[in-house]
Amino acid sequence: MKIAKIEVGEVKIPLVTPFKTALRTVDCVNDIVIKVTADDGQVGFGEAPPTAVITGDTLGSIRCAIQDFIAPNLIGMDIFDIDGIMKKLHGCILKNTSAKAAVDMAVYDLYAKALNQPLYKVLGGRRNRIETDLTISVNPVDEMVSDSVKAMEQGFKILKIKVGKEGLEDIKRIEAIRKAVGDDIAIRVDANQGWTAKEAVKIIGTMEDKGIVMDLVEQPVHAHDFKGMQYVTKHVYTPILADESVFTAEDAIRIIEGRAADLINIKLMKTGGIYEALKICSIAEIYGVECMIGCMLESKIAVSAAAHFAAAKGIITRADLDGPSLCSIDPYEGGPIYQGADIIMNDTPGIGILNAPCF
Ligand code: MG
Repeated sequence: MKIAKIEVGEVKIPLVTPFKTALRTVDCVNDIVIKVTADDGQVGFGEAPPTAVITGDTLGSIRCAIQDFIAPNLIGMDIFDIDGIMKKLHGCILKNTSAKAAVDMAVYDLYAKALNQPLYKVLGGRRNRIETDLTISVNPVDEMVSDSVKAMEQGFKILKIKVGKEGLEDIKRIEAIRKAVGDDIAIRVDANQGWTAKEAVKIIGTMEDKGIVMDLVEQPVHAHDFKGMQYVTKHVYTPILADESVFTAEDAIRIIEGRAADLINIKLMKTGGIYEALKICSIAEIYGVECMIGCMLESKIAVSAAAHFAAAKGIITRADLDGPSLCSIDPYEGGPIYQGADIIMNDTPGIGILNAPCF
């Protein structure tokens, strides 16, 4: 079973409400979608969002990386030679992790289809359902409180609160949301690199002194501020999760060895796909560091690939895969079932997506 054709398309899906973080505001998912066809006619799907402020990837760069570099290198390769395909994929062009992730997941989709198994069973098969949080965009306090209450009413038991734009003012946001949702809802706080190390310790310390429990605080300081991450992790009790600080397996080793975070957020768009993400899982298992699976603004193809990967691995104890919940429509057929906070795998071979509207 050989790779015969790699086609590139595009999807545009409006969001229910604009997505706002300390880094950007976005009102629709506009992603590259790819279809890889094997010589026996089977197809695999992949997807990549242009998250320029985090990965450096744009719609144009993702398209060109796949069409001009990756596709010519992979055409004709045997789908069972995963190791060879991945060496070529990562060796034929530097960086471009989102383009690589789209191709990687389409290859794994085909590989699992060739084995006639759902992808999560091929990768480890730990469980068949995971629970995701829901992201609350950074907005004025009142709006964040009402969005949080709405999410709770929809059945979400874990909220991910975006902060990091106004320094110490974020204390009011977290406090007001905790008061509104009560103690049974888990709160994750994501500063998206928006605080200084001292601000982070002050904000998190204040929450701890007030008895306001947070499941974790994600990426408090700038991605490259290693010493800042170390300082925050050392001076607070709340677990610190490294997101933008960890793209590669090497980053994960450095962060864990340097005690610069307590948890690692794995995203396929940062690692360049499942093959590299599996390496981070292995490292995390060795050190006993739990991981979260996260996503960018992705629709059902990429999020479902991440969901299969997360379901496969016990070291992934948290999921932030709310992309499809933020989309106003679902343009795809098939895939895991998204039921409020639950993502339930089924036994359809591969990732399970049956078709995409752009092909
Ligand atoms: Mg994050």
